[in-house]
Amino acid sequence: MHYIIFDLEWNQAMDPSRSVPGLPSEIIEIGAMKLTEDLQPAGRFETVIRPQVYKRLHHHVRKLTHVRADELESGLPFAEAARRFLAWAGEDAAWCTWGPSDLPELQRNIAYFCPELSLPWPLFYYDVQKLYGLQYDGRNTGKALEAVVDELKLEKDVPFHRADADTYYTMRVMQQLDMKRLAPMRSVDYYRIPQTREDQIRLKFETYSKFVSCGFASPDKLMKDKEVTDLPCPFCGGPTTLLVPWHAGSTHNYLCVGTCPTHGKLRGKLRVRRHPSDVHYAVRTIRSVDEEEAKAITEKYESAKERRREQRREARIRKKSTT
Ligand SMILES: [Zn+2]
Repeated sequence: MHYIIFDLEWNQAMDPSRSVPGLPSEIIEIGAMKLTEDLQPAGRFETVIRPQVYKRLHHHVRKLTHVRADELESGLPFAEAARRFLAWAGEDAAWCTWGPSDLPELQRNIAYFCPELSLPWPLFYYDVQKLYGLQYDGRNTGKALEAVVDELKLEKDVPFHRADADTYYTMRVMQQLDMKRLAPMRSVDYYRIPQTREDQIRLKFETYSKFVSCGFASPDKLMKDKEVTDLPCPFCGGPTTLLVPWHAGSTHNYLCVGTCPTHGKLRGKLRVRRHPSDVHYAVRTIRSVDEEEAKAITEKYESAKERRREQRREARIRKKSTT
């Protein structure tokens, strides 16, 4: 196994109404580094890509990346750049990016320009931004790369925001991480969701489990599915008893509380997402909760229920008074 850290720069339509279906962003640069399992640099990949769809550089992109038009003119066509990149990365690559957006963008561009190429499925990767948060802040804080470089007091010897520079700094941050400990904390890429029930993804981590459903025609159908709303214990896999049913926690998020006879109270969380292919899928995580958190979820659920009851009562009264 080796790590491939990569970063992309992309361009888009000047006028959003001119955006081409299937290609909201066109990759113009790939920067990557290969790292050994001990996080030692073992190779470098850099390529500039000649735009074929959005030929004029969006002013945001020009400002942010300082890519020059003449550089792009002498770049490779995307299909050739992607073919070289994937061949260089090799089959044994553990993908690493800063944040979750580069792998979907890469796959979207591949699907548009060279669908004969593909990445493995399910596609796992290390989100270095998330791992940094987990190691230093105890959770994913979503900090910007430059802020983290400052926090770690790393020397800023290369200007930011070109793909090769961002890759370089991501590598420097990653070298500060305890990757042996963080190794199980892989992220799942959701660009291609499971196509069938048999393909649905079930992962077990030390402290929680994750389930990625296939696509459903509507969020309603999704929330009626027994497999989606199941709450197996993440530790023993056994059945649990629901204490607080699935209910809307916040927009597109559902929560529930259950209990395993052996492992105690658990919290289920469902994030309902819309996939670009116009179906809805769910990412469900289940983990332990302490009494305090279980109580907080229960109280919030009860008071929301009470509020709805109250609203129904008021609506009835209003209806009566108008008839
Ligand atoms: Zn259990």
